[in-house]
Amino acid sequence: MKINTIHEVAILGATGAVGQKVIALLSRDNRFKIVQLVASEERFGLRYGDVVNWREPLCSLDPQVADLKLIGFDQVTAPLVISALPSSIAKEQEPKLARRGLHVFSNASAFRMDAHTPLLIPQVNRSHLDLIRRQKTSGKIVTNPNCATVFLACGLAPLLEIGTLEHLSVVTLQSTSGAGYPGVSSMDILGNVIPYIADEEEKIVEETKKILGDMDKPREISVTVHVHRVPVLYGHTVAMHLYYRDPISLEAAYNQFNQSNKKYPGFYVVHAENNRPQPLRDITHDDHRVHIGRLKMGDRPNILGLIAMGNNLVLGAAGAAIANMQAFLDDRGGDR
Ligand code: NAP
Repeated sequence: MKINTIHEVAILGATGAVGQKVIALLSRDNRFKIVQLVASEERFGLRYGDVVNWREPLCSLDPQVADLKLIGFDQVTAPLVISALPSSIAKEQEPKLARRGLHVFSNASAFRMDAHTPLLIPQVNRSHLDLIRRQKTSGKIVTNPNCATVFLACGLAPLLEIGTLEHLSVVTLQSTSGAGYPGVSSMDILGNVIPYIADEEEKIVEETKKILGDMDKPREISVTVHVHRVPVLYGHTVAMHLYYRDPISLEAAYNQFNQSNKKYPGFYVVHAENNRPQPLRDITHDDHRVHIGRLKMGDRPNILGLIAMGNNLVLGAAGAAIANMQAFLDDRGGDR
């Protein structure tokens, strides 16, 4: 008889927007148990429920998690760690944990482009998980992409099969929760669109090439990106135009998403209506899906346009780290 193990997990950055989403998702997931929480130093020893400004819409805070005392990095012993730290802190702390044999699943950008670190979306580049075998530490670090990159990479991946891509043009509309809490000041964002997010365009270009390339060689793609912060609370929209060398068909594009859904049922939701997908109407607070819409030909038969949209805190962050943790455990036969 197979006995299912319940895996103990520590969460770093537990009070932030991503950390709260990790807690909400794991509290409802009987494969895992949250045993340790870390936030910034001034909170050490305090009860999580007393310090967190719980803003997570998926569920109320689990009383057992609320009762956990916040600890320091050195006290973390759980074998699996989800990191939702600012990148500068992640850069310092995540390798220390890996050296102590703990496995870190990170939302931070610190090691995403490291040659020995997987930048993983299991449905897209699962084989890249093998990169951990090149890490010298007994604990491993696995990262998930930037919250806009993930929707671009997922939207693009199936479409690379239908022709030779010569250029990709991308425009993003990114929600305020993508900047964490409290994020952008309300005076700056309400009724406004900000056509810049520091370092975001560079991350989107480089990460997309790594995810869609081979383990040792990024894919060569010519990409141009414009990013925007918009007054939407949850959900990043990525509009893209794909310029192929030769004519392609809309039917072939639709077919690619149908084929991908045979392997990963329900992963892509392909919207037929002209006015969908919309963040407010189409995403849920535990949405692990990629919403595809506005699939259409451009003004030449070699140009395809589409939108990829999804929950930046779930598939774009917390849910992605949890999926990577599960892929890692599956790879090691973790439930046996
Ligand atoms: P956030 O809301 O600002 O939360 C940051 C968290 O880090 C808080 O729990 C904070 O604790 C903790 N922290 C800050 N300084 C610390 C220190 N010196 N030591 C220990 N903990 C410290 O940010 P977020 O949006 O959750 O993002 C977290 C990470 O995920 C970032 O690297 C971000 O780039 C990445 N990410 C975010 C998204 C998204 O959609 N938001 C998507 C993908 C990736 P205190 O409350 O105690 O200060």
